[in-house]
Amino acid sequence: MPQYTFKCEQCGEYDVWKSMNDNLASDECPGCSGESSRVFTLFNVSRMDSKIVKRIDEGMKPKVVKRDQLPQSNIRKKETNPRPWMI
Ligand SMILES: [Zn+2]
Repeated sequence: MPQYTFKCEQCGEYDVWKSMNDNLASDECPGCSGESSRVFTLFNVSRMDSKIVKRIDEGMKPKVVKRDQLPQSNIRKKETNPRPWMI
């Protein structure tokens, strides 16, 4: 199912997954139930990509560091460690 971006006048942009059978021209805002209009973006893929990359960056990195790189990356660890008391 493709992801579409809509923009609410009050709440701003948000992404929703819709099937081809849904109304793709407008949507009901999940925040205020107002009518939102479709945002046509040619860079949807790269936008999704940066989100995924960011999530991986935030979610995966600490695990990777702990398991594989901890013994040899104490110096590098300071830039990714959000918990100073764990140093
Ligand atoms: Zn709204």
